[in-house]
Amino acid sequence: MTNSKTRLQSVMNFIKLAEQQANRPPGLVKLLAVSKTWPASRLRELAEAGQTRFGENYLQEALQKIAELADLNLEWHFIGPVQSNKTRDIAANFDWVESVDRLKIAQRLSDQRPTEKPPLNICLQVNIDDEASKAGVHPDGLMELAAAVSQLKNVRLRGLMIIPAIAETVEQQLDAFGRAQQLYSQLKTAHSSVDTLSMGMSADMQAAISQGSSMVRIGTALFGERHTPNKQ
Ligand SMILES: *Cc1c(COP(=O)(O)O)cnc(C)c1O
Repeated sequence: MTNSKTRLQSVMNFIKLAEQQANRPPGLVKLLAVSKTWPASRLRELAEAGQTRFGENYLQEALQKIAELADLNLEWHFIGPVQSNKTRDIAANFDWVESVDRLKIAQRLSDQRPTEKPPLNICLQVNIDDEASKAGVHPDGLMELAAAVSQLKNVRLRGLMIIPAIAETVEQQLDAFGRAQQLYSQLKTAHSSVDTLSMGMSADMQAAISQGSSMVRIGTALFGERHTPNKQ
């Protein structure tokens, strides 16, 4: 408990400082705790320390934790690749999906969202550095995809999710996040429901916050190094 609490406080402090250094108003950057590979007991500790938003990449692992932690009032974000055969369980169990990069997936999520639940919050994942190995819509296709997604009934377009190429310098980080910020501001102008720019991880959250991130997705700095290899 103490350890989780300390790590959470230090990440919150880091975010606060980064907001100050960027001359941004305090308290606007949200923290998503990325809990892939960690057992439900570790999430519960963080939740007891005040963290409510959790991000998961792998469906089966996530469903178990969602069930185990059902007594807590948590907000669940799916941030891994979405295959067609997974959309039903994702639509039924998550509050947000940040990794939507094609209309077919958004359409299925909308069709399969249980009607008693509020619309599923959607971020479009953009392949900001146009990497062959990475998921995400190409920046040139973003506005067209967003227009189509915004018409769907049971999803709500909230913004963008960005995973830039691994950068060797802070300048490279700033450049990629800066381009993301420009796309985001275009998107926001076109769609009034848009309020979320999800970018920044443990190693680059400062650069992301300086370029306008509104939600950082933090795993390692909150939970420690992951022992299980990242399956992506
Ligand atoms: C694992 C993961 C993170 C967290 O990365 P850390 O470097 O551990 O903070 C953030 N976003 C996505 C999409 C991830 O898969």
